[in-house]
Amino acid sequence: MSRVFHRHSNKLPPIGTKGGGVYLYDADGKAYFDGSGGAAVSCLGHGDPDIINAIKQQLDSMAFAHTGFLGSQPAEDLADLLVDHAPDGLEHVYFVSGGSEAVEAALKLARQYFLEIGQPERSKIIARRQSYHGNTLGALAVGGNAWRREPFAPLLMNVSHIAPCYEYRDRRADETSSDYGQRVANELEQEILRLGTDQVMAFVAEPVVGATMGAVPAVEGYFKRIREICDTYGVLLILDEVMCGMGRTGTLFAAEQDGVSPDICTIAKGLGAGYQPIGATLCSVEIFDAIKTGSGFFQHGHTYVGHPTACAAGLAVVQKLTQGGIVDQVSAKGKQLRDLLHQEFGQHPNVGDIRGRGLFVGLEFVADRDSKAVIDPSHKFNARLKTAAFEAGLICYPMGGTIDGKNGDHVLLAPPFISEDHHLEEVVSKLSIAVSKVTADLG
Ligand code: PLP
Repeated sequence: MSRVFHRHSNKLPPIGTKGGGVYLYDADGKAYFDGSGGAAVSCLGHGDPDIINAIKQQLDSMAFAHTGFLGSQPAEDLADLLVDHAPDGLEHVYFVSGGSEAVEAALKLARQYFLEIGQPERSKIIARRQSYHGNTLGALAVGGNAWRREPFAPLLMNVSHIAPCYEYRDRRADETSSDYGQRVANELEQEILRLGTDQVMAFVAEPVVGATMGAVPAVEGYFKRIREICDTYGVLLILDEVMCGMGRTGTLFAAEQDGVSPDICTIAKGLGAGYQPIGATLCSVEIFDAIKTGSGFFQHGHTYVGHPTACAAGLAVVQKLTQGGIVDQVSAKGKQLRDLLHQEFGQHPNVGDIRGRGLFVGLEFVADRDSKAVIDPSHKFNARLKTAAFEAGLICYPMGGTIDGKNGDHVLLAPPFISEDHHLEEVVSKLSIAVSKVTADLG
C-alpha cells in the first residue's frame, strides 16, 4: 500500500518513471503524450538537456541560500529577463515556489501598497465567477469556482465575484462581441460603486481562463475597459497568468495581446516548465516605490522565496523561450491544432465550442449544440473523458465548470511548444478515440 496520497485517496495513479520530449512513461513502459503539459506546466517537454544542465550547475555551486542572508545571480538575471519582456510598467519581481503563492503575494502586495500610500480603507477584492487562482486560502477565496470553494467557505475572506467574459455562453443574440465585452466589463464599475469607491483594493482576473473554463480568452476591448475602470477608481489590476503566461498563448505574457498592462502580474507553471517549482509576482514601479520609500519592507516571505536552483531553472527556461524563437511559433502551432480539432470535431453533436489562444486550447462539450444544454452531471463526463484519454495514451485536462448552476464539461489542451505537426495530429486522434468512447455512452 502506498503511503503517499495525492488527490484521490483510493485511486492512485501509476508510477511515472521517465520523461522524454512530448512523452511521459509509466513503470510498465506505457507512453503517454503529455497533451496538457500536466496542467499547462511542461511547455518545453521533458528531459530538455539545457534546462537540466543549468540546474546541475546551480546545484554544484550553491543549491540554496535563504534570501534573508544572500541573494543569487540566477534570481537577478531571471528578474531582468522577465522585466525585459513584461508588459510596460512591471519592473520588479518577487520569486515564490508556485502559482498559489504568487497570488497570495499579489494580494498582500496590493494591500500593503494602500497602507503605504495612506489609504488603509482599501481592502476589498473583486474577482470573477468560474475562476481559479489557487488552493491556498487567500487564492481560493479570490477564485470564483463554487465547487472548489464550497467545503472551505467558512474559512474564506469575503470577495465579490462578477461575471466572467464568456462569449460562447453569455453574449446575447442582439449584441456584437464588442458590446458584450463592454457590458460585462462594466459590471466591475457597478461593483466598485456598490462596495464604495474608496474601499476596493484590486480586481483579479486571468487574461485567458484555463482550469475552470477551458481556454476562454476575453473578447477584444474587454480588458482595455477593465483597465480604464481600474484607473478611474484607483483600483489595482492583478492579472493572473499562472496558467496562460510564459508563451502559452503566443506571447511571453498573455496580457500583451489584450493591449493592457496590469499593476501586478502572477506567473508560475511554464516559468519552471516542470523542472523546478517556481512562481513569481511582478509589480509596477509605483507599488515597489511605495514600499521602498515607505516601510522599506514587504511584510511577507516563505523559506524558499528566490530559491537559487529554481531561479536557475526558470532562467534557462525563459532564455530558451525568448531567445530560441520557440514562443514565436506558438500562435501558428495553436492555429494548426485548432484547425485539426475543427476537422475532427467541428460537426460533432457533443462539441459546442472549440476555442483558445496559441497552444492553450479548449473544447466545450454539450448535450445539444443548438440549445448548448450541458451534459447531465450524472454522466461524470469529464472524469470519464480523462480516464478514456489516459487509456488511449493521452494526458489532457478535462474539467467541469459551473454553468447556470450546473456542471458543464470541457477539456483543456496545452501541448509542449516543441510539438511538431505529427504530434498535434497524435493529440487529436487520441482525443478522438476518448471522445468517441465517452459520448457513445451518452445515449
Ligand atoms: N492561478 C491560476 C490561473 C491557475 O490556473 C493555478 C493552478 O492551476 C493557480 C493560480 C495555482 O497555481 P499552483 O497550483 O501552482 O499553486
